[in-house]
Amino acid sequence: MVALSERTASTRRVVAAALVLVALGALGAVQAALAGASFMFDLEQTQPPLGRIAPVVEDPHTPRLARHVYLAIVDGLRLDRSYELPFLDELRRRGIDAEATSHYPTWSRPNYVSILTGVPPSASGVRTNHHNAPVALDSLMDRARAAGMHVASATDYDVLPRLFLRKRAPERASAPDDDAAIIDIDAMEDPLQRAAIHAPDADLVSPFDDARYAPWPGGFSEAGAAIAATDADLVVLLVGAVDAAGHADGGDSPAYRAAAETADRALARVLARVDLTQDAIVVVADHGHTGPGGHGGVEPEVLSVPLVMAGAGVKPGATVDNAYLIDIAPTVAALLGIPGPGHALGRTLVETLSLDAAARTRRMNADAGRLAITRATVATAESRAATDVLEHRAERIAIVIGGLALATILAAMLIRRRVLRFDVRVLLVSVPAFFVVYYALIGTFGQGFSPSLLPAQGHLAGAMVKYGVVGMIVQLLASLWALRHHGTLAERLAAANGIAWTGLTLTMVTAGMIWAVFPPPYVSLPGPLWLVLIPAVEVAVACAAVNVALTLGFEVIVFAARAWHRPTASAAVAAVGRTPSSPASADSESSPSAPWSADSRTLARGGRRSRR
Ligand SMILES: [Zn+2]
Repeated sequence: MVALSERTASTRRVVAAALVLVALGALGAVQAALAGASFMFDLEQTQPPLGRIAPVVEDPHTPRLARHVYLAIVDGLRLDRSYELPFLDELRRRGIDAEATSHYPTWSRPNYVSILTGVPPSASGVRTNHHNAPVALDSLMDRARAAGMHVASATDYDVLPRLFLRKRAPERASAPDDDAAIIDIDAMEDPLQRAAIHAPDADLVSPFDDARYAPWPGGFSEAGAAIAATDADLVVLLVGAVDAAGHADGGDSPAYRAAAETADRALARVLARVDLTQDAIVVVADHGHTGPGGHGGVEPEVLSVPLVMAGAGVKPGATVDNAYLIDIAPTVAALLGIPGPGHALGRTLVETLSLDAAARTRRMNADAGRLAITRATVATAESRAATDVLEHRAERIAIVIGGLALATILAAMLIRRRVLRFDVRVLLVSVPAFFVVYYALIGTFGQGFSPSLLPAQGHLAGAMVKYGVVGMIVQLLASLWALRHHGTLAERLAAANGIAWTGLTLTMVTAGMIWAVFPPPYVSLPGPLWLVLIPAVEVAVACAAVNVALTLGFEVIVFAARAWHRPTASAAVAAVGRTPSSPASADSESSPSAPWSADSRTLARGGRRSRR
């Protein structure tokens, strides 16, 4: 008895140590969960560096090539599935069959912006579908309207017009629009409110003179045909049905194929009366889809999208070199004979256009003049941000190392008081269990750590929580299994404390290093692996902390339960002349008068046998 009580601390102290670890874990979990939840919003920039400079608008004075231009965006249509669609193939035969590359992160809103402003997500600040402020960048619609043209839109996804809302004031073009940044376009669900945007006295105006929204299916064809029948110079069509099928059934599925065929028929109906001798049609997609469904990453099937051009001003059979989505807006502008959007980082695809040599040179020169300024603006902002990051990084790494030192001191104190034990055998079973299961699940079902793992309109951290829960259950079971042979209850809880300390320290130091190396704001966008790992590590901390609470909570319950069944050992207790405690007082396991640690070897053995 004496030897045993020397080896293990009093129950009260072990339970107190467990509670300290649970409290520390809870603190870390809340912090990490908040960081994980805000990660996708932290990626957004409502005032990107380009939005702070005046649009660089230089008119190259090239002839107008097409009377009307119809720009159709088929959301989520990947390149290989865009063939054997009758209408698209007919346009290809009469015009150009090319492909374009989408921009990372390959989500919808970011790439509607790539297509319509010529600015990719890295520079537009529109990085995810969570971007909910109007885009403060010059657009194709702005250029067309500045030239006195009529701009219209028809879509089955009504966020498009709201994404490009403008302040009515004409000075918008030259001054940063700080007010627009606080408008939440996703909160505008009320159709009346949307209608008010078109009212003459509204502060905000739609970038479209006429915008029609009709939910899929059925309505789009009519709305599109009605828009196509107007005299709009520029018509932007957006079809969302293919993307929905990709998310629901995957890019390899028959349903996706069928949706592509339906979208093709809808476009054929909408554009049936277009006169290709006078008008031009450009069909493109914002991104593709992976086989299982999803986009956001840099998989070839997600990056490669069709670019089909036909009609007036389009050079049939032309070969296109390395077209990107940011090249669409300058190219459509060239078809209309107007300057390209003034923040664009793309070029006019002059090889696709029927321009004479002189006009072609003027277009290219205008692009070069604009690109010199827009590229320099982005490069300056990125290098300035890189300097800020470097300054903060050393500071933050020092904080993380300091935190690790504190955790080590805490561990040393707890070990000395015999309330924490590092049992290597237990740690080797329990601690890797969570990490192996969690990261293997993300690797397998998360499409190899790609942002394409997201379902439609999803949240990265949210998508990982389910893998975290599975990891937690596996670790909890592994911990219980590893702890099953531990002698006294106090020893067992001390070993569980060792699991808790190790799990918390590993996850928190990793999250701390991520916090140190990738501090928001994300002026430069983290790569696709990091886009998954940053929230994954934050979710892991939250899970590890919940797991600590579960494991230690379970152990404390085991304590209480076995203490409750103390009468099984009452004979032994009675033999040394003490009164057995009543069940009602047995849950006060932290009572200093209850030397459980001394008795509990007997209790644990007896308890375990009686439970089997
Ligand atoms: Zn999309």
